[in-house]
Formats: sequence, C-alpha cells, structure tokens
Amino acid sequence: MKELTFSIVKPDAVAAGNTGNILQMILDAGLKIKAMKMIHMTKKQAEGFYAVHKERPFFGELVEFMTSGPCVVSVLEGDDAIRQYRDLMGPTNSSEAPKGTIRGEYGTDIQNNACHGSDGPDTAKTEVAYFFNRLEMVG
Ligand code: UDP
Repeated sequence: MKELTFSIVKPDAVAAGNTGNILQMILDAGLKIKAMKMIHMTKKQAEGFYAVHKERPFFGELVEFMTSGPCVVSVLEGDDAIRQYRDLMGPTNSSEAPKGTIRGEYGTDIQNNACHGSDGPDTAKTEVAYFFNRLEMVG
C-alpha cells in the first residue's frame, strides 16, 4: 500500500556534507521524494516538533541540536514507506546501527543520528503537515 512518511536529514549530517549521500540511499531504497526543502529551525519550531519528548531529560539538548544548523526536510512516498524508511535509518543509537543503514553510515551517537523518520501513520500525517502545505507537494 502506498504511504507517505516524513524525513529530516538532521543538522549533523547536513554540516558534515552527507545530505547527498543520504538522499541517494533513500532513492536507492525505492522511496520517492514528494516534497523537499532546506530549513533552519527556530527554537519554537523544534520544541513544537519534538513536543512529545518535552518531559524527557534530553529535550533541551535535542532542541539545541536541531536548531544548531540547517536541515533538509522531505516527504517520502512508497509501499510501506514508514516502516521501510525506519528500517533504512536503523536504530536511534547510531553506535548500535548496522552498516548499510543511514545511522550506521552517517550517525555519531544517540543524539547526533543523522536522520528522522515518522514512527507511525498518525505521526507521519502530523509531521508532514507541520512542515509542508499541499502546494509544496508534487502529485
Ligand atoms: N534522543 C536523544 N537521547 C535519547 C533518545 C533520543 O538525544 O536518549 C534524540 C535523538 O536525536 C532521537 C530523537 O531524540 O532521534 C527522538 O527520539 P526517538 O526516541 O523518537 O527516536 P527516533 O524515532 O528518532 O529513532
């Protein structure tokens, strides 16, 4: 079943010059890019995006990280895109991520882990709408 998911190439990966390689991995996996832009999140935007984590001890540092530089946000489409992209990213902690996953290749640790992908259909919908309007999506 065709599905949309939301992706971020995070500031660590953009700053390290890995955006192109990560997008290539996404395309090679058969996912289609339906919308894409480079943004530099404000504190407010990052806090809103990660609001679900606001009580967690890492929240402040996470917001600082996500606002530390530009990132590339996109909407991906494919069969089972949410699970497929989560598999391609690898586990949250980059040091546990196998080679061949985005985090295994380009992540550093549990925070600086190169990418974000929605974890379910409801979050995918909310996250796409948080950054993109319909005019910014192709097809
Ligand atoms: N994170 C962190 N410390 C932790 C857990 C998560 O800094 O102990 C950061 C990390 O960048 C992660 C993000 O918070 O990607 C969101 O965490 P989540 O558990 O939702 O992981 P994800 O869905 O991104 O794998």
